[in-house]
Amino acid sequence: MPVREATLVRRDTVAEGTMAFYFSRPSGFQHRAGQSLLMTLVDPPQTDSEGDSRNFTIASAPHEAELMIATRMRDTAFKRVLKAAPIGTTVRLDGPNGEMVLHDDPARPAVLLAGGIGITPFLSIARDAAHQRLPHRLCLFYSNRRPEDAAFLAELRGLGQANPNFRLIAAMTEPEKSAQQWAGETGFIRREMLERHLPDLVSPIYYFAGPPAMTMAMQKMLEAIGIDEQAMRYEEFYGY
Ligand SMILES: Cc1cc2nc3c(=O)[nH]c(=O)nc-3n(C[C@H](O)[C@H](O)[C@H](O)COP(=O)(O)OP(=O)(O)OC[C@H]3O[C@@H](n4cnc5c(N)ncnc54)[C@H](O)[C@@H]3O)c2cc1C
Repeated sequence: MPVREATLVRRDTVAEGTMAFYFSRPSGFQHRAGQSLLMTLVDPPQTDSEGDSRNFTIASAPHEAELMIATRMRDTAFKRVLKAAPIGTTVRLDGPNGEMVLHDDPARPAVLLAGGIGITPFLSIARDAAHQRLPHRLCLFYSNRRPEDAAFLAELRGLGQANPNFRLIAAMTEPEKSAQQWAGETGFIRREMLERHLPDLVSPIYYFAGPPAMTMAMQKMLEAIGIDEQAMRYEEFYGY
């Protein structure tokens, strides 16, 4: 894949300690919903031992004019630079990469399991499915500590209302620490939760993304249900 340059167009806060960054789409850069890219800072004013490059999922959909990434703003040189970068700053993009893309067969539902910022590939997939009016049934389980931590929650709720093929089940693991009332699911994503929301656990293709402890737990849960490795697609977001 050729390395291309893009410029920062704008940024905003999408959850507590979580920001979205929008970049111009380089000409000829096309991706499939769910894919990622390797972003490299050009001559950054500071750096550290973790380096100047990070993998990010492209959280925007393929039809959108801009490329959007979203990340938790941890205190690393890369993220400090990104947060303070003037609009118009150039970055290098390598990609798109990755196989977290929706399967072809619409007869098989997709179950999407997101932990925290692991929502990014599924936001892209959900936006794309709505835009293309895909016939696939999508069921997204979205786990966060509190609603304040759940990036794009309002948008995902809206997609759930607009697209009859898309369902959102948001679950909070620490709702008691929230300033908001929470009437939805609580606790980790677990087999019993899937059983209450899915008519059949065996036929879907399962996609999951999040921190390593979450992806490991999802894999174990799915193996215990008897899901074949072929029906699992996942990505670990290390560094959290
Ligand atoms: C395909 C893919 C898609 C991703 N998409 C997103 C996204 O959409 N949004 C997002 O915020 N993040 C995403 N990530 C993770 C992202 O690349 C960063 O690692 C993360 O944002 C943390 O960055 P950081 O600067 O805070 O910490 P980092 O400096 O990147 O990492 C912190 C610590 O994590 C540990 N670490 C680093 N690499 C590894 C490794 N390979 N295995 C185990 N531990 C490691 C090291 O101890 C390091 O000090 C993605 C990763 C991959 C592989």
